[in-house]
Amino acid sequence: MISIKTPEEIELLRIAGKITGDTHNYLKKFVKPGVTTGELDKLAYDYILSRGCTPSFKGYDGFPGTICTSVNDEVVHGIPGNRVLEEGDIISLDIGACYKGYHGDSAWTYPVGKISKKCEDLLEWTRESLFEGLSVIKDGAHVGDIGAAVSKCARRHNLGVVRELVGHGVGTDVHEDPDVPNYGFAGTGPVLKEGMVIAVEPMLNLGTPKIYILDDDWTIITADGKPSAHFEHTVLVTKDGYEILTKR
Ligand code: MG
Ligand code: MG
Repeated sequence: MISIKTPEEIELLRIAGKITGDTHNYLKKFVKPGVTTGELDKLAYDYILSRGCTPSFKGYDGFPGTICTSVNDEVVHGIPGNRVLEEGDIISLDIGACYKGYHGDSAWTYPVGKISKKCEDLLEWTRESLFEGLSVIKDGAHVGDIGAAVSKCARRHNLGVVRELVGHGVGTDVHEDPDVPNYGFAGTGPVLKEGMVIAVEPMLNLGTPKIYILDDDWTIITADGKPSAHFEHTVLVTKDGYEILTKR
């Protein structure tokens, strides 16, 4: 069931999304060589609480962190801990904040100091694929239109599209219907309606799209060890387009 949010719910989702975006703005200042992923997690925890929210992911299916910190070949769901960030790394921060029962969900990949041209391109193009995916959203569009736009952009840049993990609806649950894949065909899948709220989140790899899961049962990494990037916004579907709820 894909829910249509009421105006009151949309207002709460706007606040949750705003605080999620603000948490990114706050955290990105601390992303530099020498910081640990655990320190970033603690900063996120304190910040989210200071804004009257709770972290959406902490305890979700038993996830131990406030945020997901995925470095280099880690695609998603990296567990914050003792890992020290080094010059040239890239790190995806996936952040969720819950306000009065409603969630925001947004991921962004950041450079750690100076990064290679290949990684710069990966970040730019994955961000580009997010906005190309968003650009087709409006009342009456199909979910498949989004995946078609994302994968077209990925193909243009010769990047691997992760297929096992997908975007999703957002509301009182951080993961609601529908699934929003980063592949597919225009004109297929559920029809988007004004008042739906979805997270679009391309995960693109410099190499193979194949992934596997580490023994910690959380961290997903690329099968060939090449870097991966992840950009995600939670958006409201409107009559003529979309509104980004997790704006920076
Ligand atoms: Mg998400
Ligand atoms: Mg997310």
